[in-house]
Amino acid sequence: MIGRALRRRCPRCGGKAFSSYFGLTEHCERCGLRFEREEGYWVGALIINTTVVFGAFLLVFVGGMALTWPDVPWGALLAVTLGAMAILPILIYPLSKTLWMAVELSWHPLEEDEISEAARAVATGDDGSGL
Ligand SMILES: [Zn+2]
Repeated sequence: MIGRALRRRCPRCGGKAFSSYFGLTEHCERCGLRFEREEGYWVGALIINTTVVFGAFLLVFVGGMALTWPDVPWGALLAVTLGAMAILPILIYPLSKTLWMAVELSWHPLEEDEISEAARAVATGDDGSGL
């Protein structure tokens, strides 16, 4: 499931989960899984995103300091760090969602009503996008 998540795919079947880089569909087009399983579901993705960005901050800023010590180019290091902190959360936004779905699905298997809703979505060809 993590492998599927890293490819921005449905954690359940590997089907397409995004209609564009940022556009997550409501249901998986192949297995019909509803991606937002409950209210507030994406808080987990936010936590993953924040954790990765904080890890990158430590790597870039502290790593940059350690590599150039004692003549740390503070201005350049700050610019690189701030640039990375501005771009990274946006770049990994889709990944944080699919990773969260994979992790969450591994400890919270689908319930009966979700399985039947997924089957219905496949039967009607409704991906929830309204198109
Ligand atoms: Zn699927």
